[in-house]
Amino acid sequence: MAKIVLNNLKHSYYDNPRSEEDYALKEIDLEWDDGGAYALLGPSGCGKTTLLNIISGLLSPSQGQVFFDDVDVTNVPPVDRHIAQVFQFPVVYDTMTVFDNLAFPLRNRNVDEAQIEQRVHDIAEMLELSDSLSRRAAGLTADGKQKISLGRGLVRSDVNVIMFDEPLTVIDPHLKWKLRSKLKELHQQIRTTMIYVTHDQTEALTFADKVVVMHDGQVVQIGSPVELFEKPQHTFVGHFIGSPGMNILPAKVDNGSVYFNGHQVEVSSGIVAGQGNAEFEIGIRPEFIRLSEDGIPVRIEAVNDAGRHQVVTAVSNGTRINLLVPGETAIPSETAHVVFDTSQTRLYQAGWLAGGERDG
Ligand code: ATP
Repeated sequence: MAKIVLNNLKHSYYDNPRSEEDYALKEIDLEWDDGGAYALLGPSGCGKTTLLNIISGLLSPSQGQVFFDDVDVTNVPPVDRHIAQVFQFPVVYDTMTVFDNLAFPLRNRNVDEAQIEQRVHDIAEMLELSDSLSRRAAGLTADGKQKISLGRGLVRSDVNVIMFDEPLTVIDPHLKWKLRSKLKELHQQIRTTMIYVTHDQTEALTFADKVVVMHDGQVVQIGSPVELFEKPQHTFVGHFIGSPGMNILPAKVDNGSVYFNGHQVEVSSGIVAGQGNAEFEIGIRPEFIRLSEDGIPVRIEAVNDAGRHQVVTAVSNGTRINLLVPGETAIPSETAHVVFDTSQTRLYQAGWLAGGERDG
């Protein structure tokens, strides 16, 4: 196991990158603590695979270093980095038994048979594969095969990190939650550093203690699921996480006060003086807006039933605002007023949380 440090990392797939746009990764400084359960979360194309390949050594960064426990491994080949990787699609030898598949990474490294026997049985038990150990892998379902892939990733005890690259893509939807919680449980048992790559916020938030959110080649926030929900450092995080995501509303700052469509709004984040013409936005999650007798006047555009809640879409002067209200709330049919919970109302400047936090 190891702490992994990425120092001043940049990567471009072009030989002569000319602008920031040419970089798939832009200035990444990141520490992954030894034994942590991390998710690397972001939309397609944001640079997750590029980052993973730099950690595993499949790709050499254009700039910067990778350290495993203070040892610079930037030029160390993948095989010597001691990393286990689980991919989107199962990597399984169909003609071998489940046992032999699980034992393969250990036999490859000349681990003695008694130890292999023990380790394979332990991992098989964790993954509920004990009854299938003597079966040929060929007969298993896609889920079963992916469990073997997970097992092959988990079976070595000498790895620095286990990286999962969208491992549940081929898994049946109703089994996904089961394997997700299984992986979390496995991490608690074996405590190896794990990095779980996904574009699915539910997978990231259920698996990880810390989620690293990427956007356009940058890390925009590292935080616990609660921190990402409550204090998004960037409007991208606010919008990407949550269902529906955070409302990002146009704002004006004048003389220390914040306005949305001409209505003064109290915000929890501090306001820095002298910000000139910087672009401001208010961020407020649908959960923290309520309908009221007074407040900002809105027109009700739509109401959608979301189980125990209703998602109300309201419009203020052309700007859409989503509210999440309890299922039993009576919704006016045309006009209404909305009020924002001040402690959960954030001010953003050029995308980033402005001026530090006044409260939590
Ligand atoms: P996905 O979830 O779709 O795999 P990702 O977040 O893993 O996306 P990357 O695959 O790392 O993103 O891609 C980051 C950027 O680098 C994208 O703009 C992509 O088009 C570009 N890119 C990736 N691989 C190459 C390559 N071999 N050559 C040139 N550009 C590449």
